Amino acid sequence: MNVQANSWAARDIATLLHPYTDLYKQQSDGPIVMTRGQGVRVQDSDGTWYLEGMAGLWSASLGFDQPRLADAAYRQLQALPFYHIFNNRSHGPAIELAEKLLAIAPPGLARVLFSNSGSEANDAAIKLAWYYHHAIGKPAKRKIIGRMRGYHGVTIAAASATGQPANHAGFGLPLDGFLHVGSHSYWHDGEAGESEADFVARRAAELEALILREGAGTIAAFIAEPVTGGGGVFVPARGYFAAIQEVLRRHEILFIVDEVICGFGRTGTMFASEQFGLQPDMLTVAKALSASFLPISGVMLSGRIHDAMLAHGREHGVFAHGVTYAAHPVCAAVALETLKIYEETDILGHMAQVSPLLQDGLRALRDHPLVGDVRGIGLIAAVETVAEKASKTAFDPKLGVGARLQNAVLNRQVILRGLRGDALAVCPPLIIQPPEIAELIAAVRGALDEVAAELQ
Ligand code: PLP
Repeated sequence: MNVQANSWAARDIATLLHPYTDLYKQQSDGPIVMTRGQGVRVQDSDGTWYLEGMAGLWSASLGFDQPRLADAAYRQLQALPFYHIFNNRSHGPAIELAEKLLAIAPPGLARVLFSNSGSEANDAAIKLAWYYHHAIGKPAKRKIIGRMRGYHGVTIAAASATGQPANHAGFGLPLDGFLHVGSHSYWHDGEAGESEADFVARRAAELEALILREGAGTIAAFIAEPVTGGGGVFVPARGYFAAIQEVLRRHEILFIVDEVICGFGRTGTMFASEQFGLQPDMLTVAKALSASFLPISGVMLSGRIHDAMLAHGREHGVFAHGVTYAAHPVCAAVALETLKIYEETDILGHMAQVSPLLQDGLRALRDHPLVGDVRGIGLIAAVETVAEKASKTAFDPKLGVGARLQNAVLNRQVILRGLRGDALAVCPPLIIQPPEIAELIAAVRGALDEVAAELQ
């Protein structure tokens, strides 16, 4: 790329360290600089509009303009731009948002602890698991079990619970005491000739064996996304979570459900926990909680955990955890308005109409010579390419098929994300309309054809 002196790109290269970016390449390539958004589209500094097929980072559920959210922020900025909730202070937006969240949450969740990001929410859930086991006199229960292909964020505990090599390599992670079992993807991790039921039984047995090996008395919690996102968009094998929860219950291991992507309708129900029969002890949310207009996240915890914390508090005093911007009033006001919009516009009804268009439209690509698998649920999906269909043989990584596809889609003015394993992730704003879904699918087909022709 030709970077002009003093351009946005040149100034970016000279100053910014970019998350999740090839730092070396960024120094010569420079960024795509976004300037504005409208509906499901964003515009770059050259004036090109893109259909944002990833909702930014799996998150901008209401797209890129929404006057009600701008108004809610402005009203709160004028009334009370900041106050904290430490030391028994509070404010209306925090209380109303907590009420609203608990009213729509899966049964059994009784309190909310707010923070700023999905990573922090997961870190907080892990600390709460430790705190809970201290409170009930089992402080040795400290280990955390995550899963390969799982993604829970980048703060130290969340990154340790994450099951992706790139988040560990170079950082000396995971921390001691963070363990991983295999993923819930039958398509990827099922063995040749193994039925789905046998795969699920194998996964449950693997978890049980790990628990027995380590000692149940040393394990605090198990953390999982109902549908994995960054790790490859995998819908769980049928019966997987029922089998896993049975093992966890028997060994008194808490279940932390990470709904940072899934929460607020993405999979077709308000929380994916409903769809997959999950009974979380804690459930983390972020991203679509505020439609990504402002940063806010939360962990909802069960009455049982809260009761234990209360009893413990009588002995130990202050609960010494919290971040300055927990339930920031402007972020909370925007999140509250977001939840009202979901309700008033019947976002789940809209999802029920448009999700089949996306899922069926993408599944029709299964006959494409490059496509090995199309999977997804609601408005989250992945199209995975393979060098050889029958054996599911992956392409040589040197061919960079995933990156080529991502670029070919981008050249069609659609933004999608290339995932490890040469898959393309699709996760558009929930407000997407049928013609935009058709446009997105046409871009994927065009990109597949282009890359197939290059590989010949
Ligand atoms: N959990 C899941 C499932 C996520 O997808 C993400 C981010 O993509 C996180 C946690 C971390 O959230 P954040 O980037 O807000 O820290």
